[in-house]
Amino acid sequence: MSVRVRFAPSPTGFLHVGGGRTALYNYLFARNMGGTFILRSDDTDRARSTTEFQQDILDSVAWLGLDWDEGIEVGGSSESYRQSERLARYQEVAAQLVADGKAYHSFASPEQLDEFRKEAMKEGRSPAYDGRHEPDPGEAAALVAAGEPATVRFAVPRPGTTVFTDVVRDEVTFDHLQVDDFVILRSDGTPTYHLASTVDDVDFGITHVIRGEDLLSSTPKHILLTEAMGAQRATYAHLSLLMGPDGKKLSKRHGHTAIKAYRDEGYLAPAVVNYLALLGWSPGDDETVVDLDEMIRRFDLNAVSKNPAIFDTDKLDWMNGVYIREMNPDQFVASVLDLVEAGLGRSLGEDEQATLVEIAPHVQERAKHLTEVPDQVRFLFSEIEYDESSWQKVMTKEGADVAVSAARDSIAGLESWSVEAVEAALRGMLEAKGLSARKGLQPLRVAISGSSVSPPLFESIVALGKERTLERLSRAHSLQA
Ligand code: GLU
Repeated sequence: MSVRVRFAPSPTGFLHVGGGRTALYNYLFARNMGGTFILRSDDTDRARSTTEFQQDILDSVAWLGLDWDEGIEVGGSSESYRQSERLARYQEVAAQLVADGKAYHSFASPEQLDEFRKEAMKEGRSPAYDGRHEPDPGEAAALVAAGEPATVRFAVPRPGTTVFTDVVRDEVTFDHLQVDDFVILRSDGTPTYHLASTVDDVDFGITHVIRGEDLLSSTPKHILLTEAMGAQRATYAHLSLLMGPDGKKLSKRHGHTAIKAYRDEGYLAPAVVNYLALLGWSPGDDETVVDLDEMIRRFDLNAVSKNPAIFDTDKLDWMNGVYIREMNPDQFVASVLDLVEAGLGRSLGEDEQATLVEIAPHVQERAKHLTEVPDQVRFLFSEIEYDESSWQKVMTKEGADVAVSAARDSIAGLESWSVEAVEAALRGMLEAKGLSARKGLQPLRVAISGSSVSPPLFESIVALGKERTLERLSRAHSLQA
């Protein structure tokens, strides 16, 4: 039997990092097993679904590099992979279940249902609705024919239990007495999530349902529906939800929760993928930096942990830095060039590109995000303004003016222009003036770059060039006076 899995997001929000992890685990499992990865859209909630969210989900899954074999935009044996376009199919299944006596028309209003629940509890029964107050099938059919609004409910067999072995959570048991005769078709003819999701899973031949733990309590309903349709239940794996570092449910308070935000902030997709993979699974051997091919080779659904996984943006930042350092220098320059030009609002000339290439390795070594690069290198390509707080903190300190003017003199006298020569000259200046590296060099950094955060000083000076360095030191010195 060949493995078929699906990622089935609802386009009611931007793709969440938890959704990204679910997509990734489905993808890794499919690729590891030589199976098929399907992407569909659970867009039955018309009020909350938008095309913007739908597009974001497709773009984000594609950005992560999780190519799907079947589904939206790719096609496959189903005419559509959007639930909004499969309504007739869900209605057909609901009608068949009613005809088979496995579902029934329900006419109870929400208020009545409330009453029935109270009554059940008073009588010591479970409040789960069992349809005891509904008309018999003949009467129901007549009411429906007469245009009476009705939902369709699944008739949960009672007494009974549904037991399944979840790959992540082991054996899970649900007592049918606690499960409502749940609605599968609303009175306006639209399917509920339970019906649409189950029909899709059956029709698309899904063998493994890998999804969030929040859907665990829906699973007995899906199993009952699947078997009522005469199909074989899938294997289920429910992934633990993501928590923030404080152990509370992941929310905006903890940082960005949308994949889009990380995409926009210049994170590298392979770093995000690597980080998401570790949220509940470990590639083994204490290794954490593992590329996608290696993950595919090693992925094991049985090894996924049921402990809540902590999503920690500091760790993601660290991982992103690792991937930035792993880029080859050309690749790094190519990926920051657009950002730098966008930041400047113009393109770089040939000489300027050479300057970027020169400084790039020193930026690459330290960067956690590609988007921090434009600000760090701007001083090389445009006039600077002094950052107010850097100026206050550094340039007004004792010794700062001495350092700036002495540095100007020693650089002016330099005959060769290299990192070694600049460093030797400036270290000589520190010694001559009795200044510590912090006291003597930090003012130079502010003087040439405008800020106390810049690429390494000597390399920055060399990239800036002698003339511009002298100009900036002079200007800063005149402002210090
Ligand atoms: N559409 C559901 C959601 O976005 C997931 C459905 C499923 O995986 O069964 O939460």
